[in-house]
Amino acid sequence: MRAGDGVIQKLGKNVGRYHGETIDIDHVRAEAHRLALQHGWQCDTFLNSGGLTLRAYRRSHPHAKKNLYISTGIHGDEPSGPLAISRLLEEDNWPDANLWLVPCLNPTGFPLNTRENAAGVDLNRDYRHLTTTEISAHVRWLSDQPNFDLAVILHEDWEANGFYVYELNPRDLPSFAEPIVDSVRDLCPVEIAELVDGWPIKAGIIRPNIHPKDRPQWAEALYLVVNKTPRSYTLETPSDFPLALRVETHVRAARRAFELFAS
Ligand SMILES: [Zn+2]
Repeated sequence: MRAGDGVIQKLGKNVGRYHGETIDIDHVRAEAHRLALQHGWQCDTFLNSGGLTLRAYRRSHPHAKKNLYISTGIHGDEPSGPLAISRLLEEDNWPDANLWLVPCLNPTGFPLNTRENAAGVDLNRDYRHLTTTEISAHVRWLSDQPNFDLAVILHEDWEANGFYVYELNPRDLPSFAEPIVDSVRDLCPVEIAELVDGWPIKAGIIRPNIHPKDRPQWAEALYLVVNKTPRSYTLETPSDFPLALRVETHVRAARRAFELFAS
């Protein structure tokens, strides 16, 4: 099965929104929790109110000086990220780094298969004004953590024709974007459009020229590069392809990012 041979086609299900496979998020979160504890991660429950529980996991490395942050599950119509996190936890093959992991930021969106939470708010636009319980709690927890050297965030795009990476690297550190895209090329098509969400995209990479202060709403990645990390990679799988392929793609791309980070 090779993307380049044209064997993998879009399913054609995503008309107007994501219509693909869904997940039982309670089950997926319980599995991530079980795996994390089994492999020696510490759990921080950073929100537990009104039936809404949000958890992060931390694992320190005895000799490592670098800090890696991974998060996903902020959009309830993007099931690949939370599944990929469970796979990564199960494989337990992380770089020699101190690790911070947030496996699901939008538990009320997944049962509805909506990008937004159950109240209809896109949580990934709330990092500047903090109007939601979820993101207020997330930012409070983040501000108690040390700075990270790298953030890796897993998302999906229901309109995309292929995989792409959204890089925020304002200090022009060596870029991981090309090797991350290359790592999935034989598995998943790479985005060929010239514009995604209004941003120019080249060879599957978006490098938005963003001035945070000018932007009325902040995504998690933008909050992180303003406050917590010099570099952020958002790994976007195209959700009009089979879920198993997207999970494999996320896992492979994340692993490549971890290798580059460790080297
Ligand atoms: Zn998303």
